[in-house]
Formats: sequence, C-alpha cells, structure tokens
Amino acid sequence: MEKTYPTSTKVVVVGGGVIGCSVAYHLTKFGWKDVVLLERDQLTSGTTWHAAGLVSQLGPTASITKIRKYTLDLYKKLEKEVDHSAGLRINGALSIAQTDARWQELKRQATTAKLYDVDVKILDKDQIKRDYSMMYVEDLKGGILMPGDGAADPSGVTYMLAKGARQGGAKIFEQSPVEKILTKNGRVSGVRLNSQDIECEYVVLATGMWSRQIGDKIGVSIPLYPAEHFYVITEPIKNLSPKLPVIRDFDSSTYFKEDAGKLLIGIFEEKSIPAFDKTNKVPENFSFGEFPENFEHFEPYLEKSMKRFPILETAGIRKFFAGPESFTPDTNSLLGEVPEIKNLFVSCGLNSIGIGSGGGVGKVTAEWLMTGHVNEDIFNYDIKRFQNFHSDLDFIKDRITESLGDLYGMHWPYKQYITSRNIKKLPYHDQLKSFGACFGVSAGYERPMWFALDGEKAEYKYSYNYQNWYPSVKYETNNTINNVGLYDLTPFSKFEIKSELAHKELQRICTSNIKHEVGKCTYTQMLNKDGGIETDLTVVCIDQNHFRIISSAATRVRDKFHIKKHLSDGIKLFDVTDEYCVFGIFWS
Ligand SMILES: Cc1cc2nc3c(=O)[nH]c(=O)nc-3n(C[C@H](O)[C@H](O)[C@H](O)COP(=O)(O)OP(=O)(O)OC[C@H]3O[C@@H](n4cnc5c(N)ncnc54)[C@H](O)[C@@H]3O)c2cc1C
Repeated sequence: MEKTYPTSTKVVVVGGGVIGCSVAYHLTKFGWKDVVLLERDQLTSGTTWHAAGLVSQLGPTASITKIRKYTLDLYKKLEKEVDHSAGLRINGALSIAQTDARWQELKRQATTAKLYDVDVKILDKDQIKRDYSMMYVEDLKGGILMPGDGAADPSGVTYMLAKGARQGGAKIFEQSPVEKILTKNGRVSGVRLNSQDIECEYVVLATGMWSRQIGDKIGVSIPLYPAEHFYVITEPIKNLSPKLPVIRDFDSSTYFKEDAGKLLIGIFEEKSIPAFDKTNKVPENFSFGEFPENFEHFEPYLEKSMKRFPILETAGIRKFFAGPESFTPDTNSLLGEVPEIKNLFVSCGLNSIGIGSGGGVGKVTAEWLMTGHVNEDIFNYDIKRFQNFHSDLDFIKDRITESLGDLYGMHWPYKQYITSRNIKKLPYHDQLKSFGACFGVSAGYERPMWFALDGEKAEYKYSYNYQNWYPSVKYETNNTINNVGLYDLTPFSKFEIKSELAHKELQRICTSNIKHEVGKCTYTQMLNKDGGIETDLTVVCIDQNHFRIISSAATRVRDKFHIKKHLSDGIKLFDVTDEYCVFGIFWS
C-alpha cells in the first residue's frame, strides 16, 4: 500500500532500532513534536532484535556511566508510563577475575562504581562458591557483584520507546527505506524515499551498521564496520537458578545469562571476524538476518565455558547464533553533528552496548540537536574525534578485529592498538626508531612516546603499577632540565586565517585578547553560548592579516568544526596540519 508521508517536518530520524526510537522519544519528550522516523523494514529488524540484552550501569568515564545509569532508570520508569514491558530482569552482574592483574582491574572498577553511586560488592572465592554453587571457582581470585545490573528484552525496549515517541507526537513509518539524504548549500534539506521528498531541517542517522555506507554516498566519514558476534543458547538446564546474575568471565572472553531455564553463553573473542567480508557491504535487504554456524570459531570458548559451568558438559546446544554488530575504532559510540554537512547528526556505532546505553544515547543526541552542544564532556562519543582515514575500509576492517575483543581484554593504561598502525609516519621515522623510540599513535601519527635506554626493547610492558618506561621519562626529563631537550610535536593541529578581518574575527570568538603583533602568540579558549569550554588553543600572529591557530592533535576535526561554525561568512579557515612539522626546544 502506498504510504502518505508528510511533505515536511523538523527532524527525520532514519532507522528504527533501539537508538532511532530512543532519539525520536527524547526529541518529542523535550518538546520537538515534529519528528518523523523512517525505518527501512520493521522496527528492530537490523541488529536490535537479536541482542543478548545485558544492561550495566558502569562505563569507562563519568559521562558514559551517566548515560548507562540514565538508560536503566528510564527503562524502569517508561515501562509504567507507556504501559509496555521492557522485559527487565535485574538479577545483578558478577564479574570474575582469574589473574592478579584482572583482579586489580576489577577492584579498581569497584572503587569507580562507588564514586558514581553504583552499588557494588567485592566477593572472595568462597563467597562466590557459596552463592553460585554451579560455578567452578578454584582458579578465581575473586569477583565484583553489581546488584543493580541485569538484562532487558531488546524488542520490548525498542517498542516501548517507539510507543513513547508516538505518544509524544512522532510519526513512525516502517517499510520506508531512505534512498537519499538531500542537501542544499552544505546543509540538510530533506530525504528522498519511494520517489517522494520530505523536507526537513535536521536528519539523524540511527542506521546502525549501514551508517558507514550511507555516509560514503554523501561524502561523510562514519568510522564503523560490523563484526560477526556470537552466542549460543543451551537446552534447558535442571536447577539453573532464574536468579543467576549475568556472569562476565573476562579472562575467558565469555559471559553467561540465564534465559528461561537455559543458559545463554556469549563471547568477546580476541580476534573477531568482520561481517560481509567478501562484498564489504551490508546488503540493503538484510533483515532479522543471521550468519551460518561457525562452531570452529566458537569451540575454544565453549570449552572454557564448560570449565566454568561443568554442568554444560551434559547440556545440549539449542541455538547457535551469529549476527552483525557495528564496532568503531575505539569501542566508543559515534554521536553529534558531522563536520561535512550542517544539521546532519549521527547516533550509531554502539559496540555491543546499544541496549545498555540506548536510553542515554538518545537523550544526548536529542539535547545536542536542540541546543547545538552538550554541557558534558562527551568528547569520547563525539564523531569529530575521528578523521577521514578512520573510515577507510582497510583501516576500519582491520581495527574492528581488535575492538570487539578489547571490550573484554585488559583495559591497561597507555594501551596502544596493534591493528591499523603506521598510517602516518614522521619523515624521520626510521631515524627515531634507530634511537630506540617506542611509538604510540596520536591523531593517526606514529609518535615516539619514549626512548628505550641502554639497549632495552622499545615496547610497553603493560601494568597498573610502576610503568616500564618511567626510567626513560626520568632520563628525558632530567636531561631537559639540566641540558636541552628537542621534542617532536608535529601531530599538533594547525589552522590558518588570512584576511583583513582575521584579528577582529578572532577577538570575537576567543576568550583572550588576541595579540596583534607579528611573532606574538596568545593562549586562549573558545566557548559555547553557555560559557562551556569548547576548544583550548594558541593563536600566533604570523603577519598583520595572517594568524595561525595551534590546537591539540586529538581535537583536529572538532576544533576545525567549531571555529568554522563561528567565523563570519566569507572568512576561510585553512587546515595546514599536515604541511608543517613542529619541534619544541625546551630547557630550564
Ligand atoms: C550477538 C549480539 C549480542 C548483543 N548483546 C547485547 C547486549 O547484551 N547488550 C547490549 O546493550 N547490546 C547488545 N548487542 C548490541 C545491540 O544489539 C546493538 O548495539 C543495538 O541493537 C544497535 O542498535 P541500533 O539502533 O544502532 O542499530 P539497528 O538495530 O541495526 O537499527 C538500525 C536500523 O536502521 C535501519 N536502516 C538502515 N538503513 C536505512 C535506510 N536507508 N532507511 C531507513 N532505515 C534504515 C535498519 O533497518 C535498522 O532497523 C548485541 C549485538 C549482537 C549482534
């Protein structure tokens, strides 16, 4: 049947998974009622329908923890408000450690949890044995229990959010694949589907694993790619407690969830398999899709699971499941306005926590859209932390083989990625290497982090304690204090403005008084309209009408975006980052 779409609306949300429905719900809740959500097939038909549904409150940073806590609170509240079950089962979650290092990591997590007001209990081996007698515990150092964590029903959550969005005024259309994002003068003007155009001011891409290829068609870099993600469900197991918490056995890369008398066993293996490997493309018609069984890949983890739950030796497998989930280069999501097209927002790349963070991610996306910024440090989730090369197929496909496993790997301080390296080398890379440089990545550049002393191997030996590179840094620091140090700072971001109005413009968008004297530099910030700090940089007066702006390596795209957004029409900003090396000569 032909659908009648509105000819115009304020916001079009593309994608009806948990994220799109959450964005639509929050936009209407916060007062923007003129919202249309377009779903290619049926709600949940992408990745959402088959999630294991784990929800946990603690994240790697304060803002991400806030997002996850908000999510769980919202699901509990909204169930009642819209009278639709989210299928919540708050049995708690127990994370266990097999090694001293992991035990140290978990105890550190427990301290962080307390800091964020997340209820947590530290259990020793005997307590675990007593409370969860089905588990083999002899190899464990201990575990931490978060009683407030649990699981939700992914479809229940999505339909609940969709119901809330509809009640708030959003119009949701299924069987409505968007064919084209329309733009005019560098900004969003609408979408095209079924030979009809819907005009709009904003588009939010909540298109999950399709996002990278949708972006590609319109010159927008969206760095994510799907990996095959696995779990199995056993036959019913006698005496399996329905109150069993979610068990995360990080050192075995496995997790366990009680599932209506059966056990769901999921894995976060060290080296994952990129999905759609032959075509490098997510098919347009991939709905409620699964991949063929791959027991060879799963088997080592099944063996580890049998060791943890010996009862599995006699339990049959009822269902082997493999489905796609998108991963990003650093296992954090992609939110915010893209730098390439005005008013085009993304809300995707959920790294297997889309159900557990869907509520908060939708809230942040809606706030960002409505106010133009977020008054939280959300840089870890901002798509503008990445550069174009991050979405190159070679880079992203290689990287996601590592990102999936990283979620259950050790979260070492100073950890460097192994995959997708050597993208940008400094001109004298080999010379630095011969001096003993241990390289790390900064904004894509291979940069010497420290130099090995006395023929030591130039590599990190990861630890939560004394770092193996401290003696090198001590030597380098002392040498700089007592003699002179030459530092390579090439990855710094560099922009230039050349205009008779350059100084006036900079005075308007910077907090400091910008020095207008050739050779002088000014340290300054730029703020958003609420007075929050958006960028932190230095402005150098090269000539009367020529200024160079230097900001940190990691914030290149974000800072460029902010500055361009606030410069007057006709004033050009040039990115000269890759054109200049930077050396710092320091002494005291
Ligand atoms: C095996 C497995 C286990 C998981 N377990 C968990 C878990 O325990 N906990 C957890 O939090 N997460 C888990 N996840 C992850 C979770 O499922 C995802 O993070 C989440 O579903 C992503 O939601 P989404 O809305 O971003 O994507 P999707 O659900 O894929 O939604 C995107 C939607 O966009 C639509 N779309 C695409 N292109 C277009 C277009 N052109 N026009 C219109 N619509 C379009 C698609 O049809 C799709 O419905 C798991 C994932 C897998 C694979």
